[in-house]
Amino acid sequence: DTVPCNPELWHSDPFCATLRDDRLYGLGSCDMKGFFAIALEAASRFKAKDLKEPLILIGTADEESSMSGARQLLASSRQLGRKAVIGEPTGLQPIRVHKGVMMEAIRVKGRAGHSSDPSLGANAILGMHQVISALIALQEELKARYRHPAFKVDYPTLNLGAIHGGDNPNRICGHCETLIDIRPLPGMSIETVQALLEERLSGLFSKDSGLGIEILPLFPGVPPFETPAEAELTRYLESATGKSAGAVAFGTEGPFFSALGLETLILGPGSIDQAHQPDEFLSLSDIAPGISLFENLIGRYCRA
Ligand SMILES: [Zn+2]
Repeated sequence: DTVPCNPELWHSDPFCATLRDDRLYGLGSCDMKGFFAIALEAASRFKAKDLKEPLILIGTADEESSMSGARQLLASSRQLGRKAVIGEPTGLQPIRVHKGVMMEAIRVKGRAGHSSDPSLGANAILGMHQVISALIALQEELKARYRHPAFKVDYPTLNLGAIHGGDNPNRICGHCETLIDIRPLPGMSIETVQALLEERLSGLFSKDSGLGIEILPLFPGVPPFETPAEAELTRYLESATGKSAGAVAFGTEGPFFSALGLETLILGPGSIDQAHQPDEFLSLSDIAPGISLFENLIGRYCRA
């Protein structure tokens, strides 16, 4: 899958591969179908009988949105092998760690009424004020409690991204909703953070306040991901690329493959700067080194 595109902003047809200026332009060329072509080419250089261990190329559905393909794979508990490399665009640098992603809606339900008499209603905006204060306190607490040196922003973030509520100045606000995004660090789980939210928010309003609260995940979340620096695959990919394994600021299906018991790293051609953009491209100069890197990888783990 790819993200949607705006063809009118492209200089060539996004649905055709176009060669221009030593680049291959096309939707998904960098994120991350270029990798798939490179992996297929690397695999085609082996005969099946040469491989002592299975080589599996996996294409998952909906990686850009729900990651439902990877979730399904995890639910099926399939035995896939020992190691996995996910070809997201990393400029052929091995990536062993990223944060998780959670997005939640917090809804405060009150009761609308005429603004002239507060006792006629329960003001959801006032309730949301308490929610936001609690969220700011939680933001500070997470920042003080968790750190990870691999990241430029080395603490878990909590962003207040949107707020909607009320309709008129002369009406007590009956509903208010805020949308938040939390990026947990490796070592934190989605479930732990959801439990923290529940704990801090669910008891905010007394019974007689007339206010209620609901916390709803906007999607099931992507767990944080970390493969140890000393893992065998990390060490090998560092020596094969000459680049030390790092972190990225985007989420991947890495945590799902890790949960299936595979030692997993993220490594692929192209730059994330070109992903999700008009005129997405893959530099031709990434292709030959990519093929030889994956050919060596297959030789090392499957031929031996
Ligand atoms: Zn993408």
